[in-house]
Amino acid sequence: MTSTAPHSPDWDAVLGDLKGVKIITDVNQVAKLSLDYYHFSPILKAQLADKRGHLVACPTSEEEVLRVAQVCVRHRLPLTVRGAGTGNYGQCIPLAGGVILDLTAMNRIRWLKPGMACVEPGVKMAAFDKQARAMGWELRMYPSTYRTATIGGFIGGGSGGIGSVTYGQLRDRGNVLAARVVTMEDTPRVLKLRGDEVQQVNHAYGTNGIITELEIALAPAAPWAEVIVVFDEFMSAARFGQALSDADGLLKKLVSIHANPIPAYFVALKDYLPAGKSCALLMVAETSVEPFQDLVAVFDGEVTYNKTAREAQKGTSLGEFTWNHTTLLARSLDSEITYLQTFFFTLERVEELYRYFGNEVMMHLEFLRVGGKAIPAGLQLVRYTTEERLNEIVRYHEERGAAIANPHTYILEDGGRKVIDPVQLRFKERVDPYGLMNPGKMRAWMERAATENP
Ligand code: FAD
Repeated sequence: MTSTAPHSPDWDAVLGDLKGVKIITDVNQVAKLSLDYYHFSPILKAQLADKRGHLVACPTSEEEVLRVAQVCVRHRLPLTVRGAGTGNYGQCIPLAGGVILDLTAMNRIRWLKPGMACVEPGVKMAAFDKQARAMGWELRMYPSTYRTATIGGFIGGGSGGIGSVTYGQLRDRGNVLAARVVTMEDTPRVLKLRGDEVQQVNHAYGTNGIITELEIALAPAAPWAEVIVVFDEFMSAARFGQALSDADGLLKKLVSIHANPIPAYFVALKDYLPAGKSCALLMVAETSVEPFQDLVAVFDGEVTYNKTAREAQKGTSLGEFTWNHTTLLARSLDSEITYLQTFFFTLERVEELYRYFGNEVMMHLEFLRVGGKAIPAGLQLVRYTTEERLNEIVRYHEERGAAIANPHTYILEDGGRKVIDPVQLRFKERVDPYGLMNPGKMRAWMERAATENP
């Protein structure tokens, strides 16, 4: 019982069984809700552009999710969960048609208390933060798609972001505390996962259960000033980024470093970004801004933009120029640009690869905490020519000890992880015995199915 049964489903019967749940069948809407930001990758663009679900189900409660799950199991229909559809690797694009489960209407905050919150998966991060901050707390980390993306989608398909320089990544113990998960067994049920058990569904691309509720840990809220510092040399900017990330007495939420010519893509900030310079886009607690200026002086930087937290609330946040928004902005001016995701681990390796590739691979660093240490991770912009050349660039990085989390594949294990996660596989065997959830994305499952049915 490892694969979806061969069938041409009786869609009228399916629709009858789903009565009471909001369903979208309009071809244009279904097409829109079948896709995500896969097109950042020219490789994925060619592979995924024509993939579509058959219909979209929009439950408003866990009871309705259980009903949709039951109908999919009964009719052996593939089911692909979707939040806001802002993933970059085609995570929520259905490879085998079937039902798309849009969870954006499950958007209630169940409770909020000092340091913790319980939310439905469709809660949008910016909306959540507004309420949490009124209580003196905030999300520990969020992606640069904070305004539109859902918390469930972040945990299902994201990794970290603004805040990771202090709190690490989603997978770090203590960031996600608990989850309720609906299974796709003959009789779907709700499992309650706590502590390390949550890792079974964390960053699993919705292949092994539908998250219907999450408990997350929060950070004490700070008034975040937004600051731009410019540098003559990229490596001075990179070293400054490391020093700021390592400075235990300075509170920061974002340390994002961009080599010349990337700042030229930040058109809305052009008044603060002198031509030819590299820059740091930063969120620093207001109380840290004065001592922070001394660190800027040590690295010969120049502050060109300094907004208080209150001023920063007006207009676009600097966060929306960082992480993968940098790629988005560059691609809006030059659609041939794509990107890489790289763990360099050391600045020496950053420098070597920066000098080797020059403007073919433009250096964009985000600092984040890994294993207790701040490290530079890259979201470099690549001037794409051919798939062969892209693979060559990846290989060159790997041969020099940099780890690439390949954003040009939709297969879970071929992206960041590289190895099969036996815990996630075992969990899938339990909760999705028919292999109906987001089929084609988990290599471990496909290889297991191939061994059983050679
Ligand atoms: P979706 O794209 O809808 O879903 C993501 C995955 O999670 C899919 O596989 C889906 O099946 C699964 N999923 C969704 N909901 C559930 C659920 N309830 N149960 C089980 N599985 C579920 N990501 C980062 O980590 N950091 C960044 O800084 C960042 N910046 C970005 C910037 C841009 C411009 C873009 C386009 C993307 C960026 N991303 C980033 C990727 C993405 O925006 C985030 O990971 C986001 O949190 C995904 O949320 P979503 O609601 O859009 O999820």
